Amino acid sequence: MQCPSCRADECRVVDSRVAEEGTAIRRRRQCLACSHRFTTFERVDHAPLTVVKSSGDIEPFDRTKVVAGLAAATKGRAVSADTLERMATHVEDVVRLNGNEVSTAVVGLTVLDELRGVDDVSYLRFASVYKHFDAAADFHRELELMEKSAPRAVASD
Ligand SMILES: [Zn+2]
Repeated sequence: MQCPSCRADECRVVDSRVAEEGTAIRRRRQCLACSHRFTTFERVDHAPLTVVKSSGDIEPFDRTKVVAGLAAATKGRAVSADTLERMATHVEDVVRLNGNEVSTAVVGLTVLDELRGVDDVSYLRFASVYKHFDAAADFHRELELMEKSAPRAVASD
């Protein structure tokens, strides 16, 4: 955090406390260069994230849909609810890196990336279901690559 007095980049946090009824964190900082003290507030970024469907329709990003998709893919597998929540949070974080508008194809691929690292069967299951929902070219390329590199049977439901 840049010092508002001397513009040096290095500072240390001398105090942190909850503010604004728990919706913010207030930090007192001290510049390492000039010892100037200043205050910063940390709040949730509520900029809305919107999802563009392959039809061109736009809808608000719905984290619960990501959790539901992950839950369906990992059903009967040793993946805990906590892990699903953490994966969904990570998916949202990753897609937000691209801005406040994201395509369903990117959301799907990001979910696939998450599942790849957690459970192979869930990964293949989500891949086979997802292709029915969205005909994105990127997705099919991903699926073909996966089928070439992992000639494993998909668990039957
Ligand atoms: Zn300073």
